[in-house]
Amino acid sequence: MSTPAEQVVTLHRPRPAAPAPASGEQRWSVDAIEALFNLPFPELMHRAQTVHRENFDPTLVEFATLLSIKTGGCAEDCGYCPQAARYDTGVEASKLMEPAEVLAAAQRAKDAGATRFCMGAAWRSPKDRDVEKVAELIRTVKSLGLESCATLGMLEEGHAQTLQEAGLDYYNHNLDTAPDFYGDIITTRDYQDRLDTLARVRKVGVKVCCGGIVGLGETRRQRAGLVAELANLTPHPESVPINNLVKVEGTPLADQVDLDPFEFVRTIAVARITMPTARVRLSAGRQQMGDGIQALCFLAGANSIFYGDKLLTTGNPDTDADVQLLERLGMNRAAPQVR
Ligand code: SF4
Repeated sequence: MSTPAEQVVTLHRPRPAAPAPASGEQRWSVDAIEALFNLPFPELMHRAQTVHRENFDPTLVEFATLLSIKTGGCAEDCGYCPQAARYDTGVEASKLMEPAEVLAAAQRAKDAGATRFCMGAAWRSPKDRDVEKVAELIRTVKSLGLESCATLGMLEEGHAQTLQEAGLDYYNHNLDTAPDFYGDIITTRDYQDRLDTLARVRKVGVKVCCGGIVGLGETRRQRAGLVAELANLTPHPESVPINNLVKVEGTPLADQVDLDPFEFVRTIAVARITMPTARVRLSAGRQQMGDGIQALCFLAGANSIFYGDKLLTTGNPDTDADVQLLERLGMNRAAPQVR
């Protein structure tokens, strides 16, 4: 049996050294990020909480609503996505929504407490006329005092500028996974295409929303590789959605083995530590997670959720459940930051 003095020594033994970007350059190596993943869970959570509190009020969560303004029929082959035309998933293709429909949906989202309204269209890349129509939708959303976000696929020169002039606050374009696993998930466009679109968005002054999906069958090192790509964007994205794979019948990943929920929480914590000022968003997969894991994600530094009964095509916790969860945790919604 140990003496009280020995117990104190045991309780206060030195912590593992803090992994950090290489000195002299603000870049995270995959090794350093993997070392964060490998920390004992309480240690990782403590570090994530510390960074979170230095940059945000840890009691506030942003509510963002996502509307699919053009669903299905996509030419790409993203292995997780029910909107790819090549997979038989039961998702019916639709045309781009009219401004009046979007206005009504944005008003409902605002009335329900959302502060950011995200519009998603299942395109490989929009045509000029599509960009003009989406610009009108952005003006509609902004007229309600909501932050606006769009995800339309790859953008060509000039498209980003048109969207910026319409008042777009954020453009979402995810890196999805690590470069060395990407080809297992998507073959119809490459990693550099994604980075090029992000650069065009950044160049015109629109904020970047960029994250990925875990649970695709990647290794922990590949999760670290994804986070390294995100954290080493200069500057890192203002908004980082972290999705947990939602397995959809008919997609190639329908039978993928579930990721350990604690590994998802670790991914949130590592994203928080490496991208201190980003809104880290709990995105797809929240419905399957349960309240306990979501609460752990908030402790790990998540401070944004998608709010509303549906994401683009998959389910989401109902709005009452989200409000009640925040109430039970003594947390509140963050106010909008519109320009
Ligand atoms: S994730 Fe986007 S680009 Fe990929 S298939 Fe789905 S809608 Fe198309």
